[in-house]
Amino acid sequence: MGAVGIDLGTSNSCVAMVRNGEVEVFADPEGRRTQPSVVAFGYGKTVVVGHKAKKQLLYAPENTVVSVKRLIGRRSGSAEVARVKSQSAFGITEGENGDVRVRVQGRVYSPPEISAHVLRHMKKIAEDASGEVVDQAVITVPAYFNDAQRQATRDAATIAGLTALRILNEPTAAALAYGFKQGKRQHIAVYDLGGGTFDVSILKIDDDFFEVVSTAGDTFLGGDDFDYAAADHFLTLFQKQTGLVLEDSRSVRMKLRDAAERAKVALSSSVEVDVHVPSLHRNADGKEWEFRTRVNRSLYASWVMPLVQRTLEVCDEALKNAGMTARTVDHVLLVGGMTRYPMIREAVELHFGKAPNVSINPDEVVAIGAAIQANNLTRLDDGPSSVLLDVTPQSLSVRTVGGFCEVLIPRNTAIPTEATKVFSTAWDQQAEVRVAVYQGESRMAADNELLGEFVLDDIPLMPRGQVRVRITFEIDTDGIVHVRAMDDKLGKERSIKIEAKSGLSQEEIHQAANFDDIDF
Ligand code: AMP
Repeated sequence: MGAVGIDLGTSNSCVAMVRNGEVEVFADPEGRRTQPSVVAFGYGKTVVVGHKAKKQLLYAPENTVVSVKRLIGRRSGSAEVARVKSQSAFGITEGENGDVRVRVQGRVYSPPEISAHVLRHMKKIAEDASGEVVDQAVITVPAYFNDAQRQATRDAATIAGLTALRILNEPTAAALAYGFKQGKRQHIAVYDLGGGTFDVSILKIDDDFFEVVSTAGDTFLGGDDFDYAAADHFLTLFQKQTGLVLEDSRSVRMKLRDAAERAKVALSSSVEVDVHVPSLHRNADGKEWEFRTRVNRSLYASWVMPLVQRTLEVCDEALKNAGMTARTVDHVLLVGGMTRYPMIREAVELHFGKAPNVSINPDEVVAIGAAIQANNLTRLDDGPSSVLLDVTPQSLSVRTVGGFCEVLIPRNTAIPTEATKVFSTAWDQQAEVRVAVYQGESRMAADNELLGEFVLDDIPLMPRGQVRVRITFEIDTDGIVHVRAMDDKLGKERSIKIEAKSGLSQEEIHQAANFDDIDF
């Protein structure tokens, strides 16, 4: 029985394990060490995942689910979901409990079910490569993931037949992979630019803990945006070359986007590249046009400079929240495929005034850290293991009279943590108190995310202000919230583990776990 670390990414996923004291990143039978987080539904009940699924994206995008990590644990009405909907070829609908669901070929799936396909695929790759049964995993999530997103990731693991040993923050995993251990006090910035998202986190490593002190990010800024920016320039040039107007052609845009990505990857090792798309467009009479151009690094830089600049602004936001400046950071770690691009490395070096650490493959560093943590949590000896202390990404509060939020645990508090506040009844003869728990930074409850609610009833009937109710929030090491409420007269206590309103029921998880018609 084995425990792996899984980086369950928006665009790509990676799995690793510590064996005989060494971390091993597992490759698929073709030798590829990362797998696209893409799930494609075929006819009947067949499902393919990974590289095979990514191929289907070109000819059946409506049956191919990409970037489900953007949807996991989210409410259907959220702005992020609206944005994903506007860009997705597959269907996105609302579930009965207001959470978001994916609709493909008339069937509806929860995001954890889709993620579970990716996790099962990673589990199988690890099992085939190691010859061991893999039943436990440390799974990484962005540091800003809220309670519902973490729980939904846990549900995905359960559906995939894995026990989630820990839901670990991605930047913390990166720091572990680089071997940072408690000891000397150090501050580390983790700059993570992937295919679709950008995150930056500031970590503090100290005598006795490992802490994410602040995070910032842009969930719609990644390598894809670099490709769209370059593809726009290609399209303008092609239209100039041919006199055609093709702004609305989906297939032309997709081919140019692919060419832009290939050019970007080639430019990360050459200073100039030729771009050639053999049959970019064919008109009604069968006449074909090809596209050719030549791009060098400085031209490319002029196209994508605003995107690079934006990542640096987000870095400054995280630094400001941590009360630091770029120069006071001791190390900068790079994560995500886009950080291979030399312009990114140079911009980061200039901004922080020090060369970033690049010795570990940026596609694998998070999975490696997760594998190290999985090993720490499962090994039988009591040797020292890193104490990982993370922070709450968003403030946790209760709703009070007038729809305001009263914060019990402010954002960026180290977890595990516990906080208690005493509230008094607001009306005479008040028989019950409804405890509604919110996550977010707004003073108004309506603008924050409702995590869950419960009622403390049968409280003694007395004039307003006479009964005091003590509310305690506790956040465990996985970032999951538990809430207790007790009145001071009868001492009656109610408690809940916040079951995210957008979560799956145990029954749904069980049903989904029995799905086994998968063609790898
Ligand atoms: P990730 O989500 O971390 O897997 O990163 C994927 C992104 O990294 C995609 O936008 C890729 O095009 C990009 N990428 C991968 N390799 C390179 C490279 N050598 N140079 C530039 N970008 C790359």
